[in-house]
Amino acid sequence: MLSVATFRDDDGGYTTVAVAVALLVTLALVFSAAAGEWALARSADVQEVADATALAGENCVAAFSTVVQVVDACVLSMGLTGLVVSAAGLVVSAVPGLQAHAPGILDVGKSILNARRDFSTTALQGLQHLERALPALIMANSASCVSANCTGGIEYFGCAVPFPEESQSDYSALTDTLEVNEVEDSAKRLAEATAQKERALERANEAKQRAWRADCVDDPMCMRSRAETLAGLYGTSNPNYPLAGEWRFSFACQRARNYYLTRASNEAPWSSDPEELSRSAARQAFYEYAYDAICNATCIETDEQTSLWLPELPHTSATVRDTSLYTDLRWPCTEIVVETGEGGGEGAVEDVGVVTLHSTLACPAAEGPCVCYASLAQLEEGGVERCDVCGMDVSVMGSVADASTNIDNGFEHYWRIVVQASRDYQEARDDARDAEARMQELAEDGASAFDQAIEALSLKRPSICPAGAWGCVSMVVRKQGSMVPAELTSSFISGSELPPGAALSAATLAPDSTGDGNTVLAHLLDGVRSRVPSPLDVLGRVTELWGTLLMGYGSSYENVSSATDRMVDGIGSLLGEKAASWLRGKLGQIVDSIGLEPCDLSVRKPVLVFSQQVLDKAGLTTLGQARRIVSQLPQSAQEINAQAIVRILDELGYGTITIATLPIPGVEGGGIPLTIDLDTLVGAS
Ligand SMILES: [Zn+2]
Repeated sequence: MLSVATFRDDDGGYTTVAVAVALLVTLALVFSAAAGEWALARSADVQEVADATALAGENCVAAFSTVVQVVDACVLSMGLTGLVVSAAGLVVSAVPGLQAHAPGILDVGKSILNARRDFSTTALQGLQHLERALPALIMANSASCVSANCTGGIEYFGCAVPFPEESQSDYSALTDTLEVNEVEDSAKRLAEATAQKERALERANEAKQRAWRADCVDDPMCMRSRAETLAGLYGTSNPNYPLAGEWRFSFACQRARNYYLTRASNEAPWSSDPEELSRSAARQAFYEYAYDAICNATCIETDEQTSLWLPELPHTSATVRDTSLYTDLRWPCTEIVVETGEGGGEGAVEDVGVVTLHSTLACPAAEGPCVCYASLAQLEEGGVERCDVCGMDVSVMGSVADASTNIDNGFEHYWRIVVQASRDYQEARDDARDAEARMQELAEDGASAFDQAIEALSLKRPSICPAGAWGCVSMVVRKQGSMVPAELTSSFISGSELPPGAALSAATLAPDSTGDGNTVLAHLLDGVRSRVPSPLDVLGRVTELWGTLLMGYGSSYENVSSATDRMVDGIGSLLGEKAASWLRGKLGQIVDSIGLEPCDLSVRKPVLVFSQQVLDKAGLTTLGQARRIVSQLPQSAQEINAQAIVRILDELGYGTITIATLPIPGVEGGGIPLTIDLDTLVGAS
């Protein structure tokens, strides 16, 4: 007997898959004739001829069932492949940096679903043709078995009758169209939100780079080298961070705190000149202010939260007025006596004490005790007077950091860059967070669209009930003979109405525990793999995925979500991508919860059963109904064959018919024709 090994070439591989599939399918149909002849060799008894005849009829049903199973497996697995690829496209559209690939992946998904639709449309027509011819095929095949037994002068006639007599199959599930337009729309909007997030992250990254360079990389100088030169800070007080990726805004803050604390404690006037005394006092005030302000900075940088607030340091009179340097009561005041011509007696000159603000009591004009401390604000409002000698006022304060902020050799210049970058970074991170929230909403929309699409796939499955699905009942009559099986005449058939030598038998399909139907699909897949140019490209992965799903057809769909994961993993990492990771998990859950029923793809072979069992299923419970079957039989084997062949030719024609051409997901062009050679079958009769 032929086996799968027939299709192996010398290298142990399979010859072209088209040939393998065509032969396997043909083989299944030809088995019917083979079974008949096998029975012939050992059969001379009318009961045995009837048994062989029932088996021969039911063999056609077995062959047809195999064809339908292969078609259903292909249609279902292609639908799943298309959906899983679309799901991968959806996940990819939520990965910054990869989202641009999503439309291409979704197109592949759609093209697979289109190929599925085309395949199922043509396959449906092919199956319906074949199914309409099936009763005639059963009749022809069973009758040929009967006539093959007509040897040695003993003449039999009869054939097998299928139940149900006509098809009750429902293939509407093969004509549905799977739509992923909503999935595609969601993916498109998701990709837009992802692109927004990507752009925001780029801005954040650029801002951080800028801040890191201002802190650590000389261009021409930086905070670190300025702190070293100006404050003599080294080692852990002034560390270097060679990698931007490990740098944090809090590091710059810590450096600035160290710097201003050191500058404040080391500050001393360069000379006793009153104006220098004022500049030194202003520097002291500025360093203390800067230290306090930076101690109050906020530097939270985690994956979940970015909260940065770094203080700008005043470097003009106007910016000084916005700070506590303007309002702090830190400046000593003395009362300076001035002469005035007003008031008092005629022509009298009166001495009046005027409260005057100094930068320090070391000011030569600060005679007498300190009467109070005043602010620069009070000075500008006229509450206290400016000292002409030390000249302390807002502009002296504003000048402290003027040059060092505006010229690139000042510490404050680089601090200002860090502060501005922290603002930009915060804004970019906020934008990224908003985009992330939008992505999550759109991911939920996408998951729900995917849910609907896969539910549509899982709800409708073809219901296969061809002629003979319940079984075939055979009736064989020996025209001239004396051996009458008494049990037959007594149980079913009235002896007075039938010639002697009649026998009734029945066969139905039972799973063949020795065979695994998946081998048909496995060989199909072997051939498919040999056609895929490279397993590394995306299309190669699609074919691999389809293979997994196709092989899963007969066993279980538990592996669909893991197949989805593998598909996505092959495309890129989702590390740290919340929406994409969520989506991946959710889509897996959806696939699991849909509970796709595993399909039974075990090979079925005909087995003999009590004929009443088949008749009961067909609702034929009375003897009269059994008689009707017998009376419908043509009067000779030749007549039966002639009638059957006419019907087969009417429906199917001669030669090889192609049920459909199976496209290979992920492979352009070509395809595998699923063909059946009718000449073998018709010619056997
Ligand atoms: Zn003074």
